[in-house]
Amino acid sequence: MAEQKRDYYEVLGVDKNADDAALKKAYRVLAKKYHPDMNPGDKEAEVKFKEASEAYAVLSDPEKRRQYDQFGHAAFDGAGGGAGGFDFSGADFSDIFGDIFGDFFGGRRSSGRGSGPVKGANLRTSIRITFEEAVFGCEKEIELNVKETCKTCNGSGAKPGTSPETCSKCGGKGQVVFTQQSFFGTVRNVQACPDCQGTGKVIREKCPDCRGTGYVPMKKRYAVEIPAGIDNGQCKRLPGLGEPGTGGGPRGDVLVEVIVGRHPIFQRQDYNIYSTVPLSFAVAALGGEIVIDTVDGKVIYDVKAGTQTDTRVRLKGKGVPTLRNKEVRGDHYVTLVVQVPDKLSHEAKELLRQFDAECGDTLSAAKNVASAGDDGGNGDNGSKKKKFWK
Ligand SMILES: [Zn+2]
Ligand SMILES: [Zn+2]
Repeated sequence: MAEQKRDYYEVLGVDKNADDAALKKAYRVLAKKYHPDMNPGDKEAEVKFKEASEAYAVLSDPEKRRQYDQFGHAAFDGAGGGAGGFDFSGADFSDIFGDIFGDFFGGRRSSGRGSGPVKGANLRTSIRITFEEAVFGCEKEIELNVKETCKTCNGSGAKPGTSPETCSKCGGKGQVVFTQQSFFGTVRNVQACPDCQGTGKVIREKCPDCRGTGYVPMKKRYAVEIPAGIDNGQCKRLPGLGEPGTGGGPRGDVLVEVIVGRHPIFQRQDYNIYSTVPLSFAVAALGGEIVIDTVDGKVIYDVKAGTQTDTRVRLKGKGVPTLRNKEVRGDHYVTLVVQVPDKLSHEAKELLRQFDAECGDTLSAAKNVASAGDDGGNGDNGSKKKKFWK
C-alpha cells in the first residue's frame, strides 16, 4: 500500500477548480480510452483505467473531494481495503459509473443493474370461441385474478400508521455494488439490493391486507375484442393489464389464447375453408343447382352436367377474413361427393334397370360374357371343361 499515488486532478488532467461537468468529461475520455473491454489483456491500460476511475469517484463526490483536498490520499488510507486502499463501494460512484457506461456502451444497461424500472410479468389466459366467432370476430369477456394496489396501505406495503423505511444496506438506492477484484479492478458489479429487492425501502411492519407487497389479488373482468380471422392457438394481447412492474416499470400484458371449437361441416386451413357436399347421381349426371352452406349462409351453385365424384369447386372470397384486412378473405373449397342411393323403392329400382338397359346394360355384363362363351367357344371351352373334370 505504500505505492506512490498520482494526484487525482493530475490523473484526470483537470485543474483544482474543475466543476462536475469538466470532471465527467475528462473521465469519460479516459474511461473510454482505457476500458478493459477496449484493451483486452493490456495490463497498463487496466491500471490507468483503475486510476482514472478512482480519481473520478473521489472528485465527483463533494464530501470525498473535500477530504481529499484537505488531506490528500491520506484521507482514504485504510478505508475499506479495496484495491489501492480506496473503498469503492460508495454508492455515488456506482451511479456515475452506470451513467457513463450506460451512455457509451450504446445506452443498454447490463443485466446486473437491478433496480431500474422492470416491466411486470405477462398473464396468460384462454377463451373458447366458436368457428364462426373466429371467422367474423367477436367480443368476449374474461375474468382474471389481477394484482391491484392495496387500498389499506395505498400500495406502500406498510402497516397503516407506519411507513417504509429507507433500506440501510443500499441507502435507499436499491442497488449495491459488489467488489470483484479479478478482472475489472475498480469496476464494480451493480446489482439489485438483496435486502430491499431493489426498491430502496424496507418495510418493518407489513400491511396485514397485502402482507407487505402493496398489492392484493382481485377478480377483474375485461372485454376482449377478438379480431376477425383469428385462428386456433393464436393470442390476443391486452397491453398493460398484466402483473405490476417493479421500480416504477409498467405493468405486463395479458395474453389471451384463443381456442376455436370444431365446426360440424367446415374445416379451416389458414384462411381457406373446406367442406364436402353430397351430390345426387341425377344432378351429377344432368347438372343442376345445389345448395352449399358457407360461413356467409347458403349459396346456390350450378353443377355442370357430367360432374364426377370428388370434384372440387372454389367459392372465391367465401373463406376466412385475413387478420390484416378483413375485406381480404380466403376461399371456400367444396368437394362434391356423388351419393349412391341405398334405399330405393320398387319403382325406382325398376327405373334404374330401364336406365341401365339404355346405357350399355351394365347389369348384364357378366351374363353376356358367360353366354358369349357358350355360344362361340362351344368346342374348345366345353371340351377343356370336360377334360378337366374327367
Ligand atoms: Zn397493503
Ligand atoms: Zn436496499
